[in-house]
Amino acid sequence: MRTLGGISLASILAIALAGCDTAEQAPPQVEKTQQRFTLKLAETWGPNFPILGDTTKQLAETVDRMSDGRLKITIDSSNKHKSPFGILDLVKAGQYDIGHSASYYWKGKDPNTLFFTTMPFGMTAPEQYAWFYYGGGVELMEEAYARHGVLSFPGGNTGNQMGGWFRKEINSVEDLQGLKIRIPGFAGEILAKLGAKPINIPSGELYTALERNTIDALEWVGPGLDFRMGFHKIAPYYYTGWHEPASELQFLINRRSWDQLPSDLQEILRVAMRAAAYDMYARSYHENAVAWAMIQSEYPNVQVRTFPTSVIAAMRKANDELISEFAEADPLSRQIIDSQARYLAKARTWTAISDQAYLNSLDD
Ligand code: CA
Repeated sequence: MRTLGGISLASILAIALAGCDTAEQAPPQVEKTQQRFTLKLAETWGPNFPILGDTTKQLAETVDRMSDGRLKITIDSSNKHKSPFGILDLVKAGQYDIGHSASYYWKGKDPNTLFFTTMPFGMTAPEQYAWFYYGGGVELMEEAYARHGVLSFPGGNTGNQMGGWFRKEINSVEDLQGLKIRIPGFAGEILAKLGAKPINIPSGELYTALERNTIDALEWVGPGLDFRMGFHKIAPYYYTGWHEPASELQFLINRRSWDQLPSDLQEILRVAMRAAAYDMYARSYHENAVAWAMIQSEYPNVQVRTFPTSVIAAMRKANDELISEFAEADPLSRQIIDSQARYLAKARTWTAISDQAYLNSLDD
């Protein structure tokens, strides 16, 4: 028998084959599935923030239960990390593994990310979810965030947002001149084009800013969240929405943090994020309905207004011009804008003969 340094070739082959078997039967994955992982999450919201903060708590509880304690998520609110609008940077740098925020908060850093929260005059929540999951939206969002080494997932929808709280009525485009209003995202760009002075302020500072006349008006979300903030005490005109028909939050995950997880924990995290996101939409609808019924019966000073046709027309015109400018400035922006426009055209014809036709048929 041929030998190699006293060991038979057959023995070497046997060892080599045994090694292969071992690799197939007991890959490192098996050891990995015994490991426990803790991911750090940073959220834009303050501690115990209703609805939006409930979404991250739900995610943490769900992954803990589904993984039998192998995957834990610890949550730092804005009071801890002090960077409510810097969540992308925190996750990108690896200071946090997961972020929960709204994509349009860092439009100044990367305009390609702003389209994934909501767009003025754009899709409603069901239309947008259909676009995300079945119309190519998630793939485009992944492409935009991959440039930052970050994975992105839908993170919960507020549903249609109210147009905000105003001290004075807006009767014409002239009334927007010099108006200091807290409003983020693309809508802020539109109002700036029409002469207003939009700024973004974290939620914890909104009431004081309105009370001290730092701002004349503000938009936040809808009755479920707005009423707890007390804006109605200062600004009685509550306008219906045009600017955030379906604000989707985002879960952002550092790619290295994701890659270190075994595939079963990745899948648990993926499913738990999707469940938490959809639950936030249902919860938002519920909280808005309950809060609005209460406001109507107990706070008759709150007066609902809709922006006049001339103001809406000017906003739409500014929106169209800005969309063209953004599309010209960046190829990926153009791709996202075109995808949303094509999808909206298709989805809206269905909305028109389903939900819209149904609701119209009930009118007196
Ligand atoms: Ca808002």
